[in-house]
Amino acid sequence: MDITSLQSTFPDLFIKANHPLAPYTTLKIGGPADIFIHTKTKDEFLSVLKYLSETINFSARNECEGMSPKVVRTAKIGLSNIDLTILGNGSNVLISDSGIRGIVIKNTSSDISIDSNNNTKTDFSTTYTQRMENEPDKYLDFTKLNYDESSLPTSLTTLSSGTPLPFAINYLLDHGLTGLQWFAYIPGTIGGATWYNIHGGSYHLADYIDSVETFDLSSGQIKTFSKQELNWSYEHTYFQQHPELIILATTLRLFHGDTTLAKQVRDAWIAQKIKVQPMNSAGSCFANPALSDCQKIWGEQKSTGWIIDHELGWKGKTVGGAQISLQHSNFIINTGTATATDYYTLLTDIQNEVKSRFGLQLVPEVHLLGKF
Ligand SMILES: Cc1cc2nc3c(=O)[nH]c(=O)nc-3n(C[C@H](O)[C@H](O)[C@H](O)COP(=O)(O)OP(=O)(O)OC[C@H]3O[C@@H](n4cnc5c(N)ncnc54)[C@H](O)[C@@H]3O)c2cc1C
Repeated sequence: MDITSLQSTFPDLFIKANHPLAPYTTLKIGGPADIFIHTKTKDEFLSVLKYLSETINFSARNECEGMSPKVVRTAKIGLSNIDLTILGNGSNVLISDSGIRGIVIKNTSSDISIDSNNNTKTDFSTTYTQRMENEPDKYLDFTKLNYDESSLPTSLTTLSSGTPLPFAINYLLDHGLTGLQWFAYIPGTIGGATWYNIHGGSYHLADYIDSVETFDLSSGQIKTFSKQELNWSYEHTYFQQHPELIILATTLRLFHGDTTLAKQVRDAWIAQKIKVQPMNSAGSCFANPALSDCQKIWGEQKSTGWIIDHELGWKGKTVGGAQISLQHSNFIINTGTATATDYYTLLTDIQNEVKSRFGLQLVPEVHLLGKF
């Protein structure tokens, strides 16, 4: 793709060649994008996606490169291929030192609209979660904060996909709507949170989702899916299998709940998480292992943090500037000078050690972008 045609079509947008991506991630790691585009509104985001889908013929595929599945969207222009990557807040990605080939769109579209029609009927049900912790005093104890809102009246709220989750939580609580307090301290956008089906305590975002508006790169059409049309489970969504679908907005069904209590929970949640979840990371490195696997090895559920800490004794272990966090052993942090290779080496070292000692295959939660 010729950058000058993009720049002349969208003169008001920030469009740069060979633009560094590290500043757009919580890890502050990663090389440049061939072409970087920053869209600040849903209209800008949609216009660029429409232009790209009309100008070039997109195809999408899922690749498994290295240790973690990688989503690749490819546009064929003549004989050459162009990949398209969407970045939310970059809080769940490890970007390669060589960067990302093709086009990267940084999406900060941020609108919230509340439809205040109350509705007492809701099909609220929670998704199974593996997010338990051993040693809750050391890590997080969700159970003491939990309470049930499912019988309360609800309203629909639509958030564009670049909306920062922490902003959305505060804004909606100030407007009388509860439900998102369980996701306090998660530094993602609504798009990234929907793509991944984030979890907080006993809840997943999908528990609150009513519908998702997407742009289909292959047909060039906007498509809205109801929650029931999409598969949701622990860390898995329909969107991970369908990279041609870009999330434009998510409509949530939230409760007219006790905002004072919800704010207390939000604050307690942040106070707990700040002690054990370092922000200079990409979140948890690995999912917790399945109960059935843990029962065979330890006779009970264990968390990945516990395994790395107690079984490997690797808390604080470093590779270059990457370190297994002293706050929580399932987090790898950038101490200031880490490269993607440092992080990736430490990640694979943990995975290989656990596999060779216990026959247990840890599944990464961080998503790899670019070549590893
Ligand atoms: C300190 C810390 C704590 C965390 N705590 C939690 C936690 O408690 N629970 C939890 O589930 N996660 C947690 N995370 C992980 C992370 O914050 C979430 O997964 C978050 O939802 C990622 O959103 P993002 O906007 O940063 O996505 P990014 O990291 O920017 O992107 C992640 C993936 O989503 C895709 N994507 C993003 N936007 C779109 C879009 N509009 N359309 C299509 N695809 C898109 C990207 O292409 C990429 O593949 C934590 C991370 C950190 C650093």
